[in-house]
Amino acid sequence: MAIFISLRCELRGEGRSRFTNTRCWSDDNDDPFVMAADTKRSASDCMNDLFSDAKGAGWRKINGGWVCPNCIKHIATQTDNSTHEA
Ligand SMILES: [Zn+2]
Repeated sequence: MAIFISLRCELRGEGRSRFTNTRCWSDDNDDPFVMAADTKRSASDCMNDLFSDAKGAGWRKINGGWVCPNCIKHIATQTDNSTHEA
């Protein structure tokens, strides 16, 4: 048996990106993922790989949640500054 572990973008809204002109990676199921063996040890090791893959692909942890590159781009264009990087 194996466990499928995938990141989901923290800024993805109900069913889709809350940003109309920027598709969230999670809307396209384009999230980083790993397959781990069904042990806590393996899951933990694989999650480290998952986070380093995500960073390499441009994901960032913002306010405690992972955010995809497209949503990060959108945040950068906003002027109201409502989301602060942790
Ligand atoms: Zn996103």
